[in-house]
Amino acid sequence: MKEESSGLGQKLKNLSHNLPRLKELALQDPYEVYSNLPMEVAIYDLQGNYNFVNNRYIVDEKISRSLIGKSDEEFARLLGISTDSLQKRKQNFQRTLQENKVIQFTEKLYFPGKNQTLYYKRIFQPLYSSRNNQEIVAVCLYGNSLTSIIQAQKELKYLVYHDKLTGFANRDAFFERLDQMIVESDRDQGMNAILLCDIDNFKIVNEAVGQKVADFCLKEVANRILSSIRKSDLIFRIGGDDFAVILRNLNHEYDASRVAEKIIKDVSSPYSIMENTINYLTMSIGIVLFPRDGQDRDVLIQRVSFALKNAKKTNRNDFQFFSEDLTEKSVKRLEMEKNLRSVVQDNGYDKQFEILYQPIVEKKSDRQYTIIGCEALLRWHNSDLGTVSPDIFIPIAEESDLICQLGDWVLYKAIKDFKAMTERVKKPLHLSLNLSAKQMKSPDIVHKIEKIIKNTQVQPSDLHLELTETSLLDEGLQVIRNLEDIEKLGLKIAIDDFGVGFASLKYLQKFPVSIIKIDRSFIKHINLSNEHKKLVESIILLGKNLNKDIIAEGVESLEHLYVLYTQKCYKYQGYLFSKPVTLQELENLVSGEYHFQTLMSSMANSSRFQPEHHH
Ligand code: C2E
Ligand code: CA
Ligand code: CA
Repeated sequence: MKEESSGLGQKLKNLSHNLPRLKELALQDPYEVYSNLPMEVAIYDLQGNYNFVNNRYIVDEKISRSLIGKSDEEFARLLGISTDSLQKRKQNFQRTLQENKVIQFTEKLYFPGKNQTLYYKRIFQPLYSSRNNQEIVAVCLYGNSLTSIIQAQKELKYLVYHDKLTGFANRDAFFERLDQMIVESDRDQGMNAILLCDIDNFKIVNEAVGQKVADFCLKEVANRILSSIRKSDLIFRIGGDDFAVILRNLNHEYDASRVAEKIIKDVSSPYSIMENTINYLTMSIGIVLFPRDGQDRDVLIQRVSFALKNAKKTNRNDFQFFSEDLTEKSVKRLEMEKNLRSVVQDNGYDKQFEILYQPIVEKKSDRQYTIIGCEALLRWHNSDLGTVSPDIFIPIAEESDLICQLGDWVLYKAIKDFKAMTERVKKPLHLSLNLSAKQMKSPDIVHKIEKIIKNTQVQPSDLHLELTETSLLDEGLQVIRNLEDIEKLGLKIAIDDFGVGFASLKYLQKFPVSIIKIDRSFIKHINLSNEHKKLVESIILLGKNLNKDIIAEGVESLEHLYVLYTQKCYKYQGYLFSKPVTLQELENLVSGEYHFQTLMSSMANSSRFQPEHHH
């Protein structure tokens, strides 16, 4: 037989099955089988005095002998057990007699002398007279020690609930504590906060100083957080470089932000660890209040994660409270990302994506405006989401790393279709393509473009790549190299949305840029605000001096047009000429003589020249 507490019930069953009934139960001569049972056995008479104990129950033979005929009081005295801890046994003994049934219970014996507590599993079984099998003549106690199991459980619990490196409570402990507090917060109505704290750039530390120093640094971060909170607050290390803090009984929302501010300030001040100085750590924190923002653990965690994500996105080294608004947006965003991903995975671009082309027009003379090119603009029509604006889905595609695949499709499709169209109309046109920062950074973008040129036989100089200043902002070596290689291929580079970034001039000199597209926000007020007018004027001047081509975006009215050409800007893109149209419509526009006169009369009776409705 294997000793195992959980098998005790089964053993008992076998026992009562196999044992011949204890005859008269005089029991002066206890059955061998009891003595050798691999568990503790004691037999009491009905008054609760010991008739028999086996050598597992009492190891010391002298003690076991002196116990016979005595009660548990003596048992407690002999073994140094507090009598209080035998109360439960006493009650269950009485129950066994009264209810006439087997009773199981656990027992916690306290040894004051050793200040030790031991745990047991116990079973009381009535023993019946062999005469009628009904009359109880004695009570048998079986038992097994649970101490080692409970000890192991306690140790396990410590291991399970604590983080080895920092010694702080861990993620599981966080969840458990949170559950507990959520229940309590129902009662005491206080305001509590969860702060989710994430080191922004810990990876760099690992790379810069190595794992060992990084580990020390992490400990130091933990300690700094700890010293920023009150004694009654709690801290948990819930992941590699993530900490959770629970602030309790706050008077005001403001208290949470004050603590967050302090943590951020403390954590981001320099570290000096084993002769390494680390002075570039920053921390972002998401905050959720409870019970206000939710009474469910999963909801709270989801919400505080949203807040953190947002804090990281908008402004690192800062904190952000959760708000309903945030989730709505995030849910929508998530839905879009899911949809986008499935298109990309299924390679199902053709079904949902459409490329429109917006003409770019040049003023050749007072009367003649000619289409010199077009910009490819992506449209997404999704059956669940409707038509989504690229201003919305392009950033999502960028953040979720889907932009490169989607962008590849746009590049190939637009260039191929454009090439076919120009062969039909036989007019010199250029095609402008928008490239996102991620695409620009990818090491194989040049190779991809090269391949498309080869496959489509398009003239490289007919291709313009539009980049925003922000995509150039990250002036990594790869970006510069890519730009130079692209220029070598013969393509032209345009800076898109010129003027809204903050370092435009620098980029004009640093990168092989040949075209400037003035952002439409400047054009919008060009005829209303003198300041905007002057600004546009100086951009045009600057461009001319640097020998760049200039295209004005968002030209919507004759007033815009007038101001622009009096300032010697002759290339335009905007609703005044045409909204983005299909390739076929573009072909029609290009094939017809596109005079300004025609434009004017067309505007009166064609919807093509009405501003596009945005969603
Ligand atoms: P963008 O590159 O600045 O494109 C010009 C935007 O101005 C287009 O918006 C166009 O429809 C709009 N527009 C043109 N004329 C006028 C006008 O007269 N008035 C006004 N108010 N707006 C005008 P759209 O098509 O919604 O595209 C928005 C942005 O999405 C684009 O801004 C571009 O940054 C991005 N985008 C579009 N397609 C792609 C693409 O294939 N790849 C990448 N990476 N980005 C794209
Ligand atoms: Ca553009
Ligand atoms: Ca633009």
